[in-house]
Amino acid sequence: MTAVLAVLEQRDGALRKVSHEVVTGARRLADAGSGTVEALVLGGGTVSGADQLGRFGADRVTTATHAALGRYTPEGYTRVVVERVRARQYDAVVFPASATGRDLAPRVAARLGVPLAADVTDLGIEGGAIWATRPVYAGKALLKVKLLARPALLSLRPNVFTPVERPRAAAAETAKVDVPERGGRVVVREIKAAAAGALDVAEAPIVVSGGRGLKEPANFRLLEELARAFGGKAAVGASRAVVDAGWRPHADQVGQTGKTVSPTLYVAVGISGAIQHLAGMRTSKVIVAINRDKDAPIFKVADYGIVGDLFEIVPRLTEEIRKLHA
Ligand SMILES: Cc1cc2nc3c(=O)[nH]c(=O)nc-3n(C[C@H](O)[C@H](O)[C@H](O)COP(=O)(O)OP(=O)(O)OC[C@H]3O[C@@H](n4cnc5c(N)ncnc54)[C@H](O)[C@@H]3O)c2cc1C
Repeated sequence: MTAVLAVLEQRDGALRKVSHEVVTGARRLADAGSGTVEALVLGGGTVSGADQLGRFGADRVTTATHAALGRYTPEGYTRVVVERVRARQYDAVVFPASATGRDLAPRVAARLGVPLAADVTDLGIEGGAIWATRPVYAGKALLKVKLLARPALLSLRPNVFTPVERPRAAAAETAKVDVPERGGRVVVREIKAAAAGALDVAEAPIVVSGGRGLKEPANFRLLEELARAFGGKAAVGASRAVVDAGWRPHADQVGQTGKTVSPTLYVAVGISGAIQHLAGMRTSKVIVAINRDKDAPIFKVADYGIVGDLFEIVPRLTEEIRKLHA
């Protein structure tokens, strides 16, 4: 029987979408080993949505609360997760490979002295061993690893594990936990939120990204209009070239030194497709590239390619998408 702990994520007291993906991934692993899924949410108090996790396959949901856990604190969160894992016999612990999960999971792995398979895109059990697939060499190859240590630690790439409803009668509990005052020595003092209503590129189901081909920052207006035409489902991303030039904020950068995205639809506009950019978006489900250079490397990973001037194509595309959504 495979016992799996799913470590989830909340923001401002509400469960984040990636949490459903993590429970879905954990459920898949537990089912392969006829086991159970326990979900762990850390927060300053009750977390809305935690009571719904049974729908996605959690057998038990624990909300660990402390005033210092309202926001992510590296030491406080690590301590609570490690104590929980040490107190039980889990075969696997699954995290989201989100910005927070990328910080938390390695800390937990180091404390427990076990390896971590990070940024996993597929997982399962074969001959009793937990395996995971993860992209390597900037996404050029997929590595299949077997995790022999117990518990096996995995972080799941956001937007890859589509949430699946697998209803269970989840038992929910709230446990007050003990953490150092303020959560530890590292304290998050301020979070600068993106403009109200703006979607995070790492979470949006559609991403429209722009590169140096846009010529100047004001022209990103074209991409913002295209994103809006998708009816609030699209975020605007950027290549590093335009982020380095100060045209767009770093939070929007897609790629090896930016965010990794796997949306349902990725539209690359005026982006050449350097290997470091591809590393952050090549697992997108459908890729559309618009570039005037027919030999641009982006076309090698694109499902649909449009060779031409983006300043002519993007407004026409926006118009057509608007008609579809009208
Ligand atoms: C260590 C390291 C890490 C890096 N990390 C990242 C990263 O995280 N993300 C990232 O993106 N890059 C990253 N880079 C940079 C990367 O190598 C490229 O330099 C960068 O991605 C190029 O950005 P770009 O495609 O916008 O610009 P360019 O390569 O200049 O491409 C512009 C494209 O626009 C097209 N174009 C121009 N005008 C038009 C038009 N009117 N209509 C249609 N198409 C047009 C051109 O044909 C060209 O293909 C990294 C580099 C290094 C060394």
